[in-house]
Amino acid sequence: MARIYLLNPPFIPHFGRSARWQDTGRGGTLYYPIWLAYATGLLEEDGHEVKLVDAPARGYSLPYVIQDIMRFCPDIVVVDTSFTSLENDLKVAREIKSHVAGAFVIGVGPPTSQFPEYMINNGFDAIARYEYDWTLAELAGNIEEGRDLTNVLGISYKVNGKILHNPKRPFSTNEQLDRLPFVSQVYTRHLNIYDYFLSSSLYPEVQILASRGCPYKCTFCCWPQTFMGRINRRRSITNVLEELIWIKENLKQVKEVVFEDDTFGIDKRWLRNLCKEIIKRKLDITWNCQIRAVADLKTLKLMAEAGCRLVIVGFESASQQILDNIRKGITVEQMRKFAKNVKKAGILLHADFIIGLRGETKETIKQTFQFIKEIKPDILQVSVATPFPGTEFYEWCRKNGYLVTDDPNEYLDEQGHQKSIVSYPWLPAGEIERSVDEILRDYYLSTSYIPVALKQIFRKNCLNELSRLLRSAKAFIKYVYR
Ligand code: SF4
Repeated sequence: MARIYLLNPPFIPHFGRSARWQDTGRGGTLYYPIWLAYATGLLEEDGHEVKLVDAPARGYSLPYVIQDIMRFCPDIVVVDTSFTSLENDLKVAREIKSHVAGAFVIGVGPPTSQFPEYMINNGFDAIARYEYDWTLAELAGNIEEGRDLTNVLGISYKVNGKILHNPKRPFSTNEQLDRLPFVSQVYTRHLNIYDYFLSSSLYPEVQILASRGCPYKCTFCCWPQTFMGRINRRRSITNVLEELIWIKENLKQVKEVVFEDDTFGIDKRWLRNLCKEIIKRKLDITWNCQIRAVADLKTLKLMAEAGCRLVIVGFESASQQILDNIRKGITVEQMRKFAKNVKKAGILLHADFIIGLRGETKETIKQTFQFIKEIKPDILQVSVATPFPGTEFYEWCRKNGYLVTDDPNEYLDEQGHQKSIVSYPWLPAGEIERSVDEILRDYYLSTSYIPVALKQIFRKNCLNELSRLLRSAKAFIKYVYR
């Protein structure tokens, strides 16, 4: 039995390593360290002594964390990393190495697939590239039994001054996902559910995954290209239902289940069958998910009947040229129809847009804002287009000289909010940042948003909706007037 300490390392308070833009949310959002939590569950199931610590959620400082690790005396320390916090995370790894004698320090997270040598030369004993649950399980078994690491797929490590890259580990299968312990159970053992807040979800919530990987080819999207791959694997309906029932019976304080899948219900038949089962069993569970703007009205109505309260949709832009440039595979007309259908089905719409993608101009920004005002999403998210290393968008920006910096540590401001590191001759970085703030401010602070907000309150769970709105509004106003 190995002693394993998994750490979401200290950085900016409320920083979200598991957030898609790897930043601090403007609406007070804080994500669960979901990937670390899945790995924690698997390692526990293998019989190891495991501790999972989320420093940004708890407000722990680095000295505090080092003391805590020393008290735990781990054989292995797993440190989560993200592109935007990479130098910080490497410093954490070095501090652990210098204070915790004998611990094997391994880095996980998206940067491992892009900068394996750099990460090993600057702090880590090893890194686990891409999806890492089974890699850690195998590594722990080898270390426990004193075997060398040559057979552990997916890791890079140093031997006699030379960095070795073991072959890539295949992505998990459907069957493997079914064998993973429920992440909601891991949360209750290691984290405080009340620490986590998503501005579009009822509070408190739990984030779980029904599937991993996304087969679509959006050029800017980081997770499929640097972390979870483009093959969609999913749990069986029975397995997902069992977890929903467990949550319902054991986490009575939880108001909403968030399916954190890149794209939920890619297989329409799977999605419809899941909804039918939830209805048949009268589960009465409230949930939300991220889907593509292609679901039809019949499916949306079924989802609503099964308890789907909100869908999160990446529209990205209202310019067809930009949608084509980024390979979204969707038309503006489809988006328009989908937005109407979501409302007809009685589901709340959380719409995501991005400013600064390939082809963006002042004109397309206006077009996007017009479209936002037309579809009137209940929750609006507008992000700065961030080209993460390893993505097609990054390569395109780099080749064409549009990057302000290629150092991901400079992607955020001091509070952890996105800065534009893309600058076009016709649309400078400052203009991109300003446009994001202006759209958000003009949308949320205009009187026409009042009926949209009221509509959210006057529905099931009205008091919970109200408190969610007030909490995210407070965080948003603080952001606007920062
Ligand atoms: S569909 Fe969503 S998750 Fe999939 S590649 Fe596109 S943006 Fe990423």
